[in-house]
Amino acid sequence: MLRIGVLKEPTDHKLTVLTPSGVERLKGRAVVLVQRDAGRGAGFTNKAYEEAGAELVDSEEALLGGSDLVLSYGHRDLRNRKIEGKTFIGIFNFLWEPGHVDHYLRSGVSVHSLDLIPRSTLAQSMDVLSSVGSISGYQAVLLAAERSLATVPMITSAGGTLRPAKFLVMGAGVAGLQAIATARRLGAVVKAYDVRTASREEVESLGATFIEVEGAVDDKSAGGYATQQTEEFLERVRQRIHEEAAAADVVITTARVPGKRAPLLITEDMVMGMKPGAVVVDIAAATGGNCALTEPDQTVVRNEVTILGPTRIESSCAYSTSFLLSNNYTSFITYLLDHQEKLSEDPILSATLVVQDGHSVNQRILALQGTGK
Ligand code: NAD
Repeated sequence: MLRIGVLKEPTDHKLTVLTPSGVERLKGRAVVLVQRDAGRGAGFTNKAYEEAGAELVDSEEALLGGSDLVLSYGHRDLRNRKIEGKTFIGIFNFLWEPGHVDHYLRSGVSVHSLDLIPRSTLAQSMDVLSSVGSISGYQAVLLAAERSLATVPMITSAGGTLRPAKFLVMGAGVAGLQAIATARRLGAVVKAYDVRTASREEVESLGATFIEVEGAVDDKSAGGYATQQTEEFLERVRQRIHEEAAAADVVITTARVPGKRAPLLITEDMVMGMKPGAVVVDIAAATGGNCALTEPDQTVVRNEVTILGPTRIESSCAYSTSFLLSNNYTSFITYLLDHQEKLSEDPILSATLVVQDGHSVNQRILALQGTGK
């Protein structure tokens, strides 16, 4: 029977991509090996994995040695490990790091990167980016609320009335919409901006105000994603956002463009115009950040404004993120086992397949490698 191995994530990542219920879901289709303590940071004990039917393995080396199919969250440096003949499944983000593909160009190795899953109805249950985005947006609001000097909801008490906090959310994709929903639940007054005007309705349905800036490039062929905008347009957006940022208590930025540096939306000048005590949470920090002052995983204070750039924010809700990812991964694995005969014709499998039998085969990634990115 097929042997699936679950690698323990590095210590700065508390999550796992397969929970004990994921192990049960794969029963009958594969033997599951789990590296000892792989689920510990997310609240899943070794005992729970054993009870679900997994075999525990003590080291990364033993896990790799015993598995045909290896699961991890992100890219791992396995240059000194024997990985020939294995298939790797993870969220490898090759669009931003195409050079990492070279690590897998070895005899018989195949790699599926789940961040390349198409945004189609068929692939919805495998959509890892939605899972990570939802948790990140939620967590960004909690982080901001915790750092803020003021309460979020309107509170009336004997000492007077505290007005509700004003939130500005930049980017209204999965993460931005979840940030809006969470901020609204806490009682904030929320405004949001996205370059995709199609998101206006979603923003408004959550009770937030959509900020309109005319003239965005809307590429219908981009699969619902944003396309890179001209510098002239981005400057117009910055002028408009300047006023909004000055009035906000919290700014949450989530804007990304697949394979490109995150657009610069909050300039240093805007931060200088913000209120003392205001908070910026920039969850696009891992791809360059939307705020000019963002330092990945650092707290920057400028003009009494706190700027946070967490790059692994989804890891702080490790149980919930792992729960969602495990469902995404098991859906993908089940689909792969059912459709692997037609790998190159299948719309989901051909989109995620980056390395096949040791060769780089994905056109999107090859195009980036060709540009030396
Ligand atoms: P993402 O993480 O790539 O980007 C986040 C948001 O940033 C996007 O809404 C994008 O438009 C916005 N953005 C980019 N450049 C910007 C700029 N200069 N200024 C302001 N905002 C900017 O996106 P995502 O959250 O993964 O969602 C991308 C699309 O995929 C959305 O249309 C979403 O509705 C869609 N989606 C579809 C499915 C499905 O059909 N199964 C699932 C999830 C998401």
